[in-house]
Amino acid sequence: MITPGDFVAVAVSGGKDSLALLHILAKLRTKFRGAKLEAFTINEGHPYSCFYRMAKSNYVGEVAAKFGIEYNVYHFRDIFGFTAMEISERLAARGHKVHMCTIDGVLRRRAMNLIGKKRGWTKIATAHNLDDEAQTVMLNVLMGNLSRFRWYGVYEDAEEKDLIPRIKPLKHIREEEIAVYAYYHGIPLMELECPYVSTNPRYRLKFILAELEREMPTVKYSLVSFGRRLAEQLKSTQAGGANRCRYCGNISAKPVCRVCDLLQKAGVLNL
Ligand SMILES: [Zn+2]
Repeated sequence: MITPGDFVAVAVSGGKDSLALLHILAKLRTKFRGAKLEAFTINEGHPYSCFYRMAKSNYVGEVAAKFGIEYNVYHFRDIFGFTAMEISERLAARGHKVHMCTIDGVLRRRAMNLIGKKRGWTKIATAHNLDDEAQTVMLNVLMGNLSRFRWYGVYEDAEEKDLIPRIKPLKHIREEEIAVYAYYHGIPLMELECPYVSTNPRYRLKFILAELEREMPTVKYSLVSFGRRLAEQLKSTQAGGANRCRYCGNISAKPVCRVCDLLQKAGVLNL
């Protein structure tokens, strides 16, 4: 996933997975011949953001200092002019029900591309694990989001020049194995769960998948493999590139990208 000449940015949310990923990549750093590593966190700007809970311990700062890695924090307000909370309130005031995790996720992905282009990152490492990936595939199937699979493929290979390729070094590692690694290495675990988590559709899928796994032990691996193969098939049948957003010009499955769609619904696109 990492080759000589790469400039890899590790996305640190503060959860145990991202802290474990930073720890692992920092330790392996000497083996990346000629590759650069730095870490970053995005502060979405709402009171329950992992950012604030993480700030209580200086673990990332310690790891960054110990391994000589640059670490920066970026804020939604600086990037978009608004915090996630402000956008959420404006959406609600206009009668749009959008989950906070959706606002965070959609804007965070865009933010990473914008920052990465300025910094010169060639890859962004995220801490998605096997469980996250299996949930994503299942969620897309349940929601009938075929086009998302194509997106999945675009991100993985990033043939599109203006997207910074994502790498997911933990994507075949089970969540509990990462927890064991974190515990063993003294990586702090956040005590409080985000209050938005329980209403996120992924939350239920987590239990459904655990239930299915008792009868079908390979179900998570099968889902991830299915998603990857579907993405490959979609890519080969849809050569010619993705569409562009009418407003911002970014690659988008629909005429208006999800970022502009959210900002438009919140009434701040012109701002
Ligand atoms: Zn757009």
